[in-house]
Amino acid sequence: MSLPLSSSLPLSSFVQNLGTESALEMLAKADASRRAGNPVINLCVGQPDFLTPEPICEAAIKAIRDGHHGYTPAGGIMPLRRRAAEDINARFKPARTVAPEQVQILPGAKSIVFFAVLMLGAPGREIIYPDTGFPIYRSISACSGATAVPLPLLAEDDFLPDPERLDALLNDNTALVIFNSPHNPTGSMLTPQRLQEIIDVLARYPHVMVLTDEIYAALAFDNHVHHSFLAFEELTDRVILVDGWSKRFAMTGWRLGCAVWPSHLASIAERLAINSHSCVNAPSQWAALAAIDTDLEALLNERCQAFQRRAAMMTQRLNAIEGVSCRMPDGTFFCFPDISGTGFKALELQNQLLEKVHVAGVAGTSFGEQGEGFFRFSCAAKDEDIGEAMDRFQHFVANEANGVG
Ligand code: PLP
Repeated sequence: MSLPLSSSLPLSSFVQNLGTESALEMLAKADASRRAGNPVINLCVGQPDFLTPEPICEAAIKAIRDGHHGYTPAGGIMPLRRRAAEDINARFKPARTVAPEQVQILPGAKSIVFFAVLMLGAPGREIIYPDTGFPIYRSISACSGATAVPLPLLAEDDFLPDPERLDALLNDNTALVIFNSPHNPTGSMLTPQRLQEIIDVLARYPHVMVLTDEIYAALAFDNHVHHSFLAFEELTDRVILVDGWSKRFAMTGWRLGCAVWPSHLASIAERLAINSHSCVNAPSQWAALAAIDTDLEALLNERCQAFQRRAAMMTQRLNAIEGVSCRMPDGTFFCFPDISGTGFKALELQNQLLEKVHVAGVAGTSFGEQGEGFFRFSCAAKDEDIGEAMDRFQHFVANEANGVG
């Protein structure tokens, strides 16, 4: 949805094309409803319901006490870039070792998408993005003047990017293709075989850059192993990695993203940082360093297990509702049920669920055209809240769905 424009304001075409992130708008609506006294259950926002682990908080407090109050280098403090590079080399097993100079610390992973599109998007070029997908991909691509080209992800194909469809969309004008696995909003994950098929296609278009959003990599459920686009020699110098601390360490409010740029783009990324945010706030960066340096594996596994258990519980409850069916996600903390059998359009369901039974979720259409007939619930919530929300949803569908078209 574009911005409402005042005719007296000569706004740039850039802002005229700005879209939005409905999950954040729903969060504001849910909060307003709660303030009005309604017993709202919030399953709309994409963030862990856990607190940031204590050692990370302590490191931030120490950084403040130690006097880390000033600007830092635009790309991030070197000890953090070094450790982040090591961490990425260990977790993502890149074909070429990532150097600290390729790593950039940004105020949230979202900024990486913004910078990549600023570098590569322009009128006459095309950017391919997943539909459904994180809404910022399409929004910011369109702002750049490039043509944003959707790559449909279909339920019958487990919401995976299809290599043949991708091949058909790629051409001389394609500047960038965006992938996201584990995937928001569907929770699907690329299998090794599908990833290889995608790589085989991309190998035939050496002028095309790849932005791979792997921010949910740490939230892969049992029997699902994350495989990174960085691991493929065929894509050397073509991959921009989106990673960060938000989802893995429950640090959404700290605003910490981690990019890996191909070497030839790293200095441009740094210049963009100098022209926009200067640097990420210093205590957050020391906290990010502690997040990598502290052995949190047991805690993070426990949290991932909790998301998996809740996702299973939510999926089971959704599948018991007439007109609703849901695939168990492979990772993330999202369930993405098909609600088309209820007779509701996705947006209608979003609004009525909040208004009538005070359950906040997000219409599938917020994530692209392919999202019609689907709905996103976050299972980053307490078991009893998920249970109560599913009771209310079931009751709502039983009472309101008949005859709605
Ligand atoms: N990428 C995806 C797929 C996301 O779902 C999100 C947040 O919801 C982001 C990026 C942005 O992360 P951050 O909060 O670190 O900017």
